[in-house]
Amino acid sequence: MIDFDSLPQPSERRIAVHVQPAAERALRSGHPWLFDQAIRKQSHDGQPGDLAVIFDQKRRFLAVGLYDPDSPIRVRILQHWQQAAINADWFAERLRAAAAIRQPLIDQQTTGYRLVHGENDGLPGLIIDRYADTLVLKLYTAAWLPHLRDVIAGLQAIQPFDALILRLSRNMEAATLPLGLQDGQTLIGEAPEESVIFQENGLRFAADAAHGHKTGFFFDQRDNRAFVRKITSGRRVLDVFAYSGGFSVYAASGGATDVTSLDSSAPALAAAAANFALNQADTLVAAARHLTLAEDAFDGLERLYADGQRYDLVIVDPPAFAKNAAEVERALAAYTRLTGLALNVLAERGILVMASCSSRVTPDAFFSTVLRATSAAGRPCIEIKRSGHALDHPIGFPEGEYLKCLFAAVTD
Ligand code: SAH
Repeated sequence: MIDFDSLPQPSERRIAVHVQPAAERALRSGHPWLFDQAIRKQSHDGQPGDLAVIFDQKRRFLAVGLYDPDSPIRVRILQHWQQAAINADWFAERLRAAAAIRQPLIDQQTTGYRLVHGENDGLPGLIIDRYADTLVLKLYTAAWLPHLRDVIAGLQAIQPFDALILRLSRNMEAATLPLGLQDGQTLIGEAPEESVIFQENGLRFAADAAHGHKTGFFFDQRDNRAFVRKITSGRRVLDVFAYSGGFSVYAASGGATDVTSLDSSAPALAAAAANFALNQADTLVAAARHLTLAEDAFDGLERLYADGQRYDLVIVDPPAFAKNAAEVERALAAYTRLTGLALNVLAERGILVMASCSSRVTPDAFFSTVLRATSAAGRPCIEIKRSGHALDHPIGFPEGEYLKCLFAAVTD
């Protein structure tokens, strides 16, 4: 249990901020970030998490948000257009709105989903994922710490849960270590044994919510995995950047004869094997041969090609390659190279599934880069489907559209 009194308290005094015209326009259109360079003047300095009230040139209210002196995103906007008291009731209201969007997803078959998707749900820098009865709350800025008590009170007001785990982005260590807060700490309830078990479209998965990537599982690919399940019957499948085998398990459940999960992380592959074990009651998963390969994706694809291994469906879902604008060209070059390497091991009339989670790479740039690479490789494709995020990853601002996924069939 956490001692909330040890956390920093929100200041009583709001910071008044006046901004440049361009920032004014962005805020007026609902953008969730105010950058440090866009500030013309402010009433006083503040601590992370102090509330900042932003005014336009005519001193009219524009927005209120969390002040963050340690980030170039100086204010993360909580509320645009009209004043509000930011308290547990306000957070409960935002959380209720987020929960309502997810309602169609939730049934006996799916108990894991993203409840709050940061900026896109009006809570910038805050993620909450639900794994059955366990919630995982991930913070990306220390500006949330003074409001943690109210956020948790809001959560308790809107839905029941057994345990709450805190995840902290690495840049928060300096702020959280002195407070005794740790990444992976259980704030409420019993710490889960090792992993939390949940269901997605009737399949069972275990996620290492305290230590795994992000909060332990990538819910954003749910719909793309479901589509993979529809097209794998009788196929040999290669899942590159497999992590804990999300795509791999769906492929097996769709009737794939062989599924190979490739990832550079041995613990991730152990989790993939565990997820196959969890689904042995599914006769198609039980019947599929599952192989794990712990190696670099680029080297592994070259080696599989040289070894003469071929697959009917190849999935490539790499980590983000471009975290800022300068890295976009390099990311596109990496997608081109991965497309070529994947096509080398793709059998005749095989299907290629290429995904990108780099938010800086636009859907147009990604899809055209991959399609150009298929032509350049002499393996022209027809598109089967272009898609993006599942419903629990709504898009609230341009940068929120990060996931792209292309399904394409080789026509040779
Ligand atoms: N497809 C997964 C998510 C992939 S996350 C899913 O649906 O859940 C990205 C994965 O890429 C991580 O597991 C990471 O270990 C792996 N990875 C990162 N760089 C790699 C590399 N060079 N070669 C192979 N795997 C890599």
